[in-house]
Amino acid sequence: MPPPAPTSLAPVRSAELAGWGANRRVRCDLISPQRQEDVSKALLPAGVAPRGLGRSYGDCAVLAGGRVLELVGLNRYLSFDEERGLLCCEAGVSLSGIIRDFGPRGWFPMVTPGTKFVTVGGCIANDVHGKAHHSQGCFSASVRAMTLLLASGEVVPLSPEDDAELFWATFGGMGLLGVVLTATLQLRKIETTWFRQSAFPVANLEEMLRVLEEQDRAYPYSVATLDVFATGAALGRGVVSVGDPLSRADLPAGKDPLKISGPPRLVVPFDLPEWILNRATMRVGNWMIQTILRRAGGPGHYEGFFYPLDMIGHWNRGYGRRGFTQYQFVIPFEDGLRQMTRILDVILQAGELPFLNVLKRFGKEGKGHLSFPKEGYTLAIDFPIRSGTPALLKRLDGLVLDAGGRIYLGKDAFVEAETFRRMYPRLDAWLAIKARVDPSGVFRSDLGKRVGLSP
Ligand SMILES: Cc1cc2nc3c(=O)[nH]c(=O)nc-3n(C[C@H](O)[C@H](O)[C@H](O)COP(=O)(O)OP(=O)(O)OC[C@H]3O[C@@H](n4cnc5c(N)ncnc54)[C@H](O)[C@@H]3O)c2cc1C
Repeated sequence: MPPPAPTSLAPVRSAELAGWGANRRVRCDLISPQRQEDVSKALLPAGVAPRGLGRSYGDCAVLAGGRVLELVGLNRYLSFDEERGLLCCEAGVSLSGIIRDFGPRGWFPMVTPGTKFVTVGGCIANDVHGKAHHSQGCFSASVRAMTLLLASGEVVPLSPEDDAELFWATFGGMGLLGVVLTATLQLRKIETTWFRQSAFPVANLEEMLRVLEEQDRAYPYSVATLDVFATGAALGRGVVSVGDPLSRADLPAGKDPLKISGPPRLVVPFDLPEWILNRATMRVGNWMIQTILRRAGGPGHYEGFFYPLDMIGHWNRGYGRRGFTQYQFVIPFEDGLRQMTRILDVILQAGELPFLNVLKRFGKEGKGHLSFPKEGYTLAIDFPIRSGTPALLKRLDGLVLDAGGRIYLGKDAFVEAETFRRMYPRLDAWLAIKARVDPSGVFRSDLGKRVGLSP
C-alpha cells in the first residue's frame, strides 16, 4: 500500500503505537494537527482514530494500518472566568497543564483519574472517574459545553441544551462520534493542594466492603487496596484509604499551600525483562499497602494522593515487552460480597500474577450512553500479559456478566463484541446516534472494530 499523501498542513509519519498497557502494538499513520482548522483536513473517508496522550490501556486510540489523529497540539486555553472557575480550552490540553497553570491560582480539575497525563478530549471520550465518583460523579459532571468536529467536516456546539443527545453520547463514546475540539470545564475552587488522609487496615473482604460504605458517607475520596496474596478466610485483606481537602487553617506551618509538583524524578528507560517483574510482584502490593498506612494521618500532597503512579515516568515499561492489561469491572451492590468473592477466587487461583489493584464503590450512573460507572463495586487489577491471560479475562467477563456488571473500555483490549453488547444496555441508542452523525464510519479504532462500535 503506498503511504498516504501528506496534507499541506502536517506531515504524516509511520509510527508503532499502542495503549498504555503496550499489549497491542500496531503500525499506524500518525498525524498531529496543531490548529483546530487543520483537524478536518486530516479526516479520511477510509477512517481515522482520535488520540490524546495514549493513557488508555488498550486499543481505543490506535487504528492498525490506518490514520491516527494525535490531538495534543490543540493545547490552548481560550478563556477563563476567574469568578466562576469556568475554563474554555482546546481538547488537547492535559490535566497536568491545568494543574500547573491554574493550581497556583486556587483552581483544580473537578474530576481526575489516577494520572494527570491525560487530555481533556480523552477524559470526555472515556468519561473518566476518580476516587470521588461516589460523591462527585464522572468527568461529564464538570463539562458545561464542547464543540465537536463531525465526519461531515461541520463543527457543532454541544451542551445539555444544544443537541443534548449527542452531547451525552460523546461521554464514553470512545472518540467514535467526532473529534472534541474545545470544552468548557467547571474547575474546583481549592484553598490548598493538600489533603487530610486516613487509612483503615481490614482483615477480609466483608470488612473491606463495610468500611468502604461507612467511610463513603464521611469522605469525598476513597479507595481500597487488596493484598493479593491473602486467600481463604483472609481473602480481601488490605487497606481502605480516604481523604478530604485540607483548608489553609489546617495546613501545618511551613507547607506551601498551593504547591505544584514538577516532572517525575524517576523514569523507567526501557522495557524491563520479565524476571524482574516476577520478583517484584511479590513485593509491590504489600509495599503499596504499607506506604498507604505509613502516610495516613499526615497531610498528603495531591501528587501522592491522586497520582502515586505518575511519580515514576514510563512505569508501564516495567511489565516487559509483552505489556500488561488492566481489568476493571463494576458489579451491583446487591449480592456484591458473594459475587466479588467468586471473581477474586478465580483471579487468585489463576496464577497470573495480579499486580496493582484498586477497589471502590461507584455512585449513580451518569447520562453517557456508554459511560462505564454505575452503582456498585468496581475493581481494577493489572495482569502482565502471559499465555493464559486472554482465557482468564474471558472467564472473568462471564462472571461479571453473571453478576449483572460490565467492564471499562478505557482499560480493555480483549472483550468480545457479543459480551460487550450484553454489558451495555444502551448500546443500540448509541449506535443510532453514530448512524446519524457518522453514517460511513469515518471515526473508527481497533477497539471500535473489535466491540462493534465502528467499522
Ligand atoms: C496510571 C493510570 C491511571 C488511570 N486511572 C484512571 C482512573 O482512575 N479512572 C479512569 O476513568 N481512567 C483512568 N485511567 C485511564 C485514563 O484516564 C483514560 O484512558 C483517559 O481517557 C486517557 O486520556 P488520553 O488523553 O491519554 O486519551 P487516549 O488514551 O489517547 O484516548 C482515549 C480515548 O479518547 C479518544 N480521544 C482522545 N482525544 C479525543 C478528542 N479530542 N476527541 C475525541 N476523542 C478523543 C480516543 O479516540 C480514545 O478513544 C488511568 C490511566 C493510567 C495510565
